[in-house]
Amino acid sequence: MTDFKRDGSHLAYCPPVEKWDDWMELDAEAWPKRVEKHYQIVPTVCFNCESACGLLAYVDKQSGEIAKFEGNPMHPASRGRLCAKGPATINQIHDPDRILYPMKRSGPRGAGKWERTSWDEVLETFGTRIRKAIQEGRGEEVMYHVGRPGHDFIMDRMLQAWGIDGHNSHTNVCSSSARLGYMLWHYADRPSPDHANARFILLLSAHLESGHYFNPHAQRIIDGKMAGAKLAVMDPRLSNTASMADYWMPTYPGTEVAVLLAMAKVILEENRFDAKFVKNWTNWEELEVDGFRAQGQSFEATVEALKKHYARFTPQFAEKESGVKAEVIVRIAREIATAGSKFASHLWRGTASGNLGGWQPARALMLLHVLTGSVGTEGGHNLNAWNKFVPKPFSVPPPQKRWNELLYPREWPLSMHEMSFLLPHFLKEGRGRIEAYFTRVFNPVWTYPDGFSWIEMLRDEEKVGLHAALTPTWSETAWFADYVLPMGFSSERHDLMSQESYAGKWIGFRQPVNRVLRERAGEKFEYTYQANPGEVWEEDEFWINLSWAIDPDGSMGIRKYFESPYRPGQKLTVDEYYGWMFENSVPGLPEAAKKEGLTPLGYMRKYGAFEITRDVYKQNEKGLSESELAGSQVEANGVIKKSGKLVGVVVEGKAVAGYNTPSRKLELFSKTMADWKWPEFTIPEYYRSHIHRAAQGASVGQPGEDFDAKYTPVVEWRKEARGEVYTLLPIFRLPNLIHTRSGNAKFLYEISHKNPLWVNPVDAKKLGGVRTGDLMKVHTEIGYFVLHAWVTEGLTPGVVACSHHLGRWRINKEDQVERMSSAWVDLKEVGKGQWKMRQIEGVAGYGSKDPDTKRVWWSDAGVHQDITFPVHPDPVSGMHCWHQLVRVERAGAEDRYGDIFVDTNLAHAVYLKWKKLARPAPGPGGLRRPLWIPRVVRPEDGAYYIKE
Ligand code: SF4
Repeated sequence: MTDFKRDGSHLAYCPPVEKWDDWMELDAEAWPKRVEKHYQIVPTVCFNCESACGLLAYVDKQSGEIAKFEGNPMHPASRGRLCAKGPATINQIHDPDRILYPMKRSGPRGAGKWERTSWDEVLETFGTRIRKAIQEGRGEEVMYHVGRPGHDFIMDRMLQAWGIDGHNSHTNVCSSSARLGYMLWHYADRPSPDHANARFILLLSAHLESGHYFNPHAQRIIDGKMAGAKLAVMDPRLSNTASMADYWMPTYPGTEVAVLLAMAKVILEENRFDAKFVKNWTNWEELEVDGFRAQGQSFEATVEALKKHYARFTPQFAEKESGVKAEVIVRIAREIATAGSKFASHLWRGTASGNLGGWQPARALMLLHVLTGSVGTEGGHNLNAWNKFVPKPFSVPPPQKRWNELLYPREWPLSMHEMSFLLPHFLKEGRGRIEAYFTRVFNPVWTYPDGFSWIEMLRDEEKVGLHAALTPTWSETAWFADYVLPMGFSSERHDLMSQESYAGKWIGFRQPVNRVLRERAGEKFEYTYQANPGEVWEEDEFWINLSWAIDPDGSMGIRKYFESPYRPGQKLTVDEYYGWMFENSVPGLPEAAKKEGLTPLGYMRKYGAFEITRDVYKQNEKGLSESELAGSQVEANGVIKKSGKLVGVVVEGKAVAGYNTPSRKLELFSKTMADWKWPEFTIPEYYRSHIHRAAQGASVGQPGEDFDAKYTPVVEWRKEARGEVYTLLPIFRLPNLIHTRSGNAKFLYEISHKNPLWVNPVDAKKLGGVRTGDLMKVHTEIGYFVLHAWVTEGLTPGVVACSHHLGRWRINKEDQVERMSSAWVDLKEVGKGQWKMRQIEGVAGYGSKDPDTKRVWWSDAGVHQDITFPVHPDPVSGMHCWHQLVRVERAGAEDRYGDIFVDTNLAHAVYLKWKKLARPAPGPGGLRRPLWIPRVVRPEDGAYYIKE
């Protein structure tokens, strides 16, 4: 595959930039007549996952309407290629059921009665409430809760300008565990694998198919494969990715660490590790294991101690635990060792998000990188912080002085990101309330576990005073809001994006296509909603205006951060916000723009993306300059300190940057874990997940036999629960759906609209000869759901699976709903905290301005499984552990497809049980959390200390 070139010549079939103002294509609908269609092409950035691929909007010159979206060849990460969700943006913007105007509820919360309101009324209402809360010292009662961010930094600026600790995110149901595992090694909480240049690639999830940054990564995995790299996939499920791999290792879920440590043992014992790298770049001198202390000992003695420690992870043991053949484990370990510095891997969700202790797989996977010296290398594992670029805007507000315990409670001091999925339980426990709540592209009632507890929280006006759902589409959560505020899709808003997609740094510029085109033609708009369909707005302008509404005269010190850097005292515009950064904070952009006679903003509006550099490898080896070293001291362990802060480390006599860890090296030994009450987990370890076979009564061997019980809460079934016990894998996704936003994307739902229960034939037999299409009842700890079976060999026996991204529902039959993707349901609270849902009608064709809605041929919307799951907070990372033991039986005569029952009283009891596993702050010195560990919208250091 030809790599990205700045002139776009790598993709011959894309329109060249010089023709973007008038691009001709023949009208396919007019065939066989030769009718020309002329388009103007405007670049923007996809908003349908975090990858931020470049889109080109083709605007029909005759109608002025966007006719289609294709890939932007000038985007260095996506290189003109998209997944199915990118072009489906056209369905989203033309969705006949979309929200076009700000709406306010006109009946009781949750009654589904809405009336149109104005943006001015919204700003006045929220501005007044938030101002009062801040002035009365109740800033923590203002919360912004985001599902898909789609931007970099502007929210941090806004919340810090308001002086509040109010950022909440979905990360704890997504990736917290993987983040913690990576962070403990090298501070950066995400990997940036250089797949394209690797010799061996190991994926612990379905990355090629549907994982994180998957289109940009998938392209580069294929680049790597085409250049001779081998691909191995460890996944209990035969994903599309696994089907493309050289090796598929279908593990029993939660046992992946046993396999990884067995590979580490092979590499160590065969002395195939990169000793120089391990010696120079890990903190081996701090290692303490099995009574051995490395301090004062030789490197060789330390390696022996490590070998001894991991000796029990024989390939045979790993086979017994995981089901992966010992010989395959040995072969792959040797291939990884041979790839050496060109070994790339990825882990994001999968085992990390499913299992208790899901942060250990990232710890163990990184051990393989450390042993092979493949950290920071071409073809190896790089750090996200090295490959992502976030430009600094003008006049940044200071960090907030406060700490919000609804976000970072004391029980989980090492949690990566906020404990957001426990919010209903925190409010139930009386830990606080919310005065003004913004949910943004966020649908916790549907995407989170325990959605009925969210409904109970959201409908309670004592707990949540005022709730605005900022969303482009109707959702189960928006249903329980006071205001539903339409925010734009990818072609209707501004955002600045950058991701760690490959070995390079880039930025992408999302822009509102209609506004850009009409302004090019000479029109002027104060706000983007004036150019968008209906009154669909964009968050940037909304937050700027809300900040002015909170502090109209500037006396609270908020407004100044939303004033123009060019026109003192005047309201900031989006052109000024981004224009200033492009002029001042993006290396190379002003020069590139000048060459073309453009302003930096003009350049980004023209191309939609800019590649900053490819000089990204081995940033840890960057030498410190004389000025950086002036006034610094070198400590005994080689760490360089300046004014009390760590700035680098001495390696082989050279002062270099190192990593942002306490040792400035890769932390093989984590003193942080010992200091924060987890001394048994200072180095990568395997312990059994809450869904280990032992929990199903299977016999188990070494190790972990005796110590797992203290980490693992026992499952207590409802007395009605019947059937065989299985592990449920509920978190794989279909590559063409996007949680809530794909709701009425007709191209996508036509492809996928069913999420059956995957059952291995061995288990189908055990369950009494179950066949594809049979109705099954799955009992969780707090309820049940009913769905069809799909008998398939593409899954490890003993495990059942069901994809998320399906099972949308609606209470109204027709109004304020997404009719192409949801079932019409009867929802009842049959007792206190006892909820029953039954589907009245599935999807059916309907009349609208889009004739295709009459042609909808599918009737299934899937079954909502997440709402029947209790919360399982990992005691260390805080991540919700999605996998769970379920009882599976054939559905009874009274059961119907899509039936759901949940008892939220039981849900709270499960929460309390898991909470007991945590080891709360304070840590050393009265800290809430280690100072070196990152936090979203970080407050000032003083807030890290518990005051009372
Ligand atoms: S991977 Fe697909 S959904 Fe994600 S940004 Fe790229 S085109 Fe959009």
